[in-house]
This record gives sequence, C-alpha cells and structure tokens, in this order.
Amino acid sequence: MESTIAQKLEAIHNLQKIDSRLDAIFKIRGALPEEVQDLEDEIIGYETRLSKFKTDINSLEEEIKKHKEAIKNSEKLIKKYQEQQMNVRNNREYDAITKELELQDLEIQVSKKKIGEAQITIENKNKDVEELKEILKDRKKDLSQKNDELETIIAESESEENKLKAEREKAAKKIDDRIIKSYQKIRENAKNGLAVVMVKRGACGGCFNIVPPQRQADIREKKKLIVCEHCGRIFSGVEDEVEDETQPKKKRSKAS
Ligand SMILES: [Zn+2]
Repeated sequence: MESTIAQKLEAIHNLQKIDSRLDAIFKIRGALPEEVQDLEDEIIGYETRLSKFKTDINSLEEEIKKHKEAIKNSEKLIKKYQEQQMNVRNNREYDAITKELELQDLEIQVSKKKIGEAQITIENKNKDVEELKEILKDRKKDLSQKNDELETIIAESESEENKLKAEREKAAKKIDDRIIKSYQKIRENAKNGLAVVMVKRGACGGCFNIVPPQRQADIREKKKLIVCEHCGRIFSGVEDEVEDETQPKKKRSKAS
C-alpha cells in the first residue's frame, strides 16, 4: 500500500528524532574511539620498530660470533705455521711462512676491528631499544586509561544506543530508499545532523532563513515533499506558535 505524503513525512520526522538522539550519544563519546584507534596504531608501529631492532642486534651478534671463530681459526693456523717455521730447510720456506703468518695476523686485526664496530652498533641499538620500551610503556598506559574511559562511557549509553538502533531499523523500513538516500546526503552535509526540520517562527528550523507564508501553507497541507530552498532540508511540518503561559518560558536555542 502506498503511504500518503503525510505518513511519509511523519516517518522521516521520526527517523530524524531517533538519529538526533543517537548523534547525542556519539557526541558524548566524542573523539575517544578515534583516540583509542590512533594509540593502537602508534603502539603497533613502535612494536614493529622494536622487533626490527632486535633482529638487527641478533644478526650483529651472529656476525661477532663468526669473526670470533675466524680469529680462533687464524690463531690455530699461526700456531701451526710457527711450528713449521722451526723446521724449515731454507730461507725461501722461512719467508713464505712469514708471509702466511703476517696474513693471518692481518685477518685477526680486521676481525677485531669488525667486532668492535658491531659492539658499538649493538650498544647504540640497545639504547634505542630501551628508549622505545619506555615510550611503549607510556603509550600502553595511555591506551588502557582511554579504553577504561571509553568502556565506562559506552556502558552508560549502550542499552539506549541498542534500543535506538532497533527503533531506527524499524523506522527506516517505512521509508522509500530514494528518500532515505537524500535524507542521508542532507544529514552528511549538515553540521547539526538535521535533515528533517520544522518551520519554527516562520523560519527554517535548520538554517533559520525565512519561509514565505504561502510556502508555509503548502508545508502544512502535506500534499507534497517540500524542502528548504536555502539549505535543502526537508520540512516535516510547521510548528504552531502557541504561547503556553502555564509553562515556564524556555529560551530557544538557535544552535540546535
Ligand atoms: Zn533551511
């Protein structure tokens, strides 16, 4: 069954009311969910850097081990050559062994130099690791604090949020996809999240521009969907200006 324009307007007015209440809940939560996400990303970044440092240190230690083995090997050779040198038959053999000894000695010097360099690099990287661990500790503390805050805030509003979301689903089903789409689009562009407004005191409830009397009359009739010519918001009706003397006067907030 086709619903009338009036029914459509009522349905979308209802949807707006639900969405505005949801907006209010998310506003209370504020930037916290994003801050938590940012912190989590930051921590992952630090942890990646930390594990890279550790890999670097491991491979440097591996390098040192290899150089130490090379030194041992050279020392063995030196001992062997020295024994051979005792039993040489001529000067030529003696000189050849001397050259080998010099060569092994040089190898040892090179290895020692490389070990020294690797040790300095490891020391520096260890310092970086310590700094990084400190930062990581701080960030994790921040994260758990923010998570606690967020959990508290969510717990306070979760049941209302779920109720509203269920209501929203039901309300949205009553509205054509085409109208829902333009509703969403207007909402995205509106700072206050209002896509459906009433005419209040002769003005658009969204942008506060004057709505001419004839247009107001058309809006009251609810024979067609009328949008504000200034901001594009959908008018769901005209609020009657009845001054209720029994109620304390409330200041109208232009911000809402
Ligand atoms: Zn407007």
